[in-house]
Amino acid sequence: MSEKQETKKNDSGKQLTVEKHYELQEQSKATEIIKKAMDLAREEIPKGKVATYIPELGKADPHQLGIVMNPLIGEKICLGDYDVRFTMQSVSKVIMLIVALEVCGLKAVFRKVGMEPSGEAFDSLVELDVNNSKPYNPLINSGALAVCGLLLPEVSFQDMVRYTRNVCADPDIELNNDVFDSEMKTCSRNRSIAYLLESKGIITTDVEDTLRFYTKMCSMNVTAESLANLAVILANDGVDEETGRRFMSSRTARIVKTLMLTCGMYDGSGAFAIKVGIPTKSGVGGGLLSVSDKRAGLGVFGPALDPQGNSIAGCKLLREISNELRLNLFYDPEWNTETEDENAMIRNIRDTQAI
Ligand code: GLN
Repeated sequence: MSEKQETKKNDSGKQLTVEKHYELQEQSKATEIIKKAMDLAREEIPKGKVATYIPELGKADPHQLGIVMNPLIGEKICLGDYDVRFTMQSVSKVIMLIVALEVCGLKAVFRKVGMEPSGEAFDSLVELDVNNSKPYNPLINSGALAVCGLLLPEVSFQDMVRYTRNVCADPDIELNNDVFDSEMKTCSRNRSIAYLLESKGIITTDVEDTLRFYTKMCSMNVTAESLANLAVILANDGVDEETGRRFMSSRTARIVKTLMLTCGMYDGSGAFAIKVGIPTKSGVGGGLLSVSDKRAGLGVFGPALDPQGNSIAGCKLLREISNELRLNLFYDPEWNTETEDENAMIRNIRDTQAI
């Protein structure tokens, strides 16, 4: 594996060594690896179900599967249903968080929400009531609704659409009115969470306006490619590698990636971190936003979901390609693959007399 270390001059003319980007597999080999992984991932689809609690989402074809890998070095790889439009759903929580950190600041955000995984379902409200505390983190519904309460006085929904189009390099992103209307009719649970947050003084804006803002954000139409474009900016410290345009501070990019790793897959986050090792945020529309730091941005679409509400084939696909494409957060060129074999590992520990 080769790596790229660039030297650039900063404003005062000082030489700086910047971003160490890792080169992934050569293009045709990477494409083959992903194609094989897609075949395996498709086998998972019958075990999943499309979301129906938002009736409009129930119309999705569960057999769809698409992926885009946008590496920092090399060409984009787009396969399967990579250009099919679907609603962002909870992937939009990442954008809400980015904008809130940039516009309102870190202290204001974490005064309203915590930084810990909840271990509960994405739409849970028990821990919020029982512990009489703020939401566990900004990537579950209660946390994102709290973040929306912060955003509402600062930005309009149109501002959010504009930012989303820019950061996703996708001018066609717009509100899916059918999904929005459908969710507004069936969002009693989110409405309960929002009113509970108001009762605790966490939401101080109009509750119905806050709920509408949140639901509109969830109802933006994207593709796997738009998500891969956003993901590669996060992988590159908040900067578009080609234009040099910065979309968020380094600190914001770092916080968002950390929360995606620990909380992005709800009560499946720990297992996903171990099996896949790529900070990822899911949505019940079937989207996955995956950031392989310094390596690549990935967008996946597969609307059949596992019990946690994560794309069942999408998770399998990421799992299959993670190690082979060197995307795992802890991948290291020096990684000792021999000790990956469990039997070898047990033997090795014995040999070292550590046990
Ligand atoms: N709009 C959905 C909801 O609030 C988003 C949930 C999700 O994608 N996990 O229920």
